[in-house]
Amino acid sequence: MLKIKGMGLDTETVADLVEEIAGKDVIELVELIKGKEHVSEFKIADKLGVTVNQVRNMLYRLYSYNLVSFIRKKDKKKGWYIYYWTFDQKKGYDLFLKIKKEKLELLKKRLENETQKSYFACPNECIRLNLENSMEYDFKCPDCGNVLDQEDNSRRVSALEREITETNRQIEKPYVEDKPKRKPRKKPVKRKPAKKKATPKRKPAKKKAVKRKPPRKKPVKKATSKSKTPKKKPKTKRKPAKRKSRSK
Ligand SMILES: [Zn+2]
Repeated sequence: MLKIKGMGLDTETVADLVEEIAGKDVIELVELIKGKEHVSEFKIADKLGVTVNQVRNMLYRLYSYNLVSFIRKKDKKKGWYIYYWTFDQKKGYDLFLKIKKEKLELLKKRLENETQKSYFACPNECIRLNLENSMEYDFKCPDCGNVLDQEDNSRRVSALEREITETNRQIEKPYVEDKPKRKPRKKPVKRKPAKKKATPKRKPAKKKAVKRKPPRKKPVKKATSKSKTPKKKPKTKRKPAKRKSRSK
């Protein structure tokens, strides 16, 4: 699992997009793998508390929109392939924009209809018709026969206007960087200790090797000192032995 540097999708955008295209149940999965590379499907299943098949089902829904890619590696012990998944945040963002822009166009058309046309509704809330269709039914409800009232659609208009404002906000929202609060908490626990352990081991090994080289020159000097000591010792040993033999 590697973290992808740079920009990403914020939580709100992910939730909005993923619910739209893949379903609410996939939001948590995307939040989990977002900003990482090659996440094992077994790890995803483990963290979400679902089966690997359920994870694959969710990922295939994203895959159909080309939002995830995978690599596979053969598990040497078990003999099967494990898939490692990566969520493409840029493609996710592009799709998010496309969906929002289409929605905006639809909302604008609906607002245009509401402000430029008259609508008539049954007091029993059976039906709502535009002027043309109301004339066809002689301004009577086709379901209950009540006379249709001209509708005050100011609430609908203001609701549409609010939705347009909100959609515009989402479209203009910058492609923000991932919230650093969540990820560094999870990652440093697993990664930093591994790096710290790996690097100190290598560096001292190099230093020791450097230190060992100069001492090799010293043993040459020691060899001379060694040659001196053996000469002295045999003399001291031999002398007492000679004295003892002489005294006897
Ligand atoms: Zn009616």
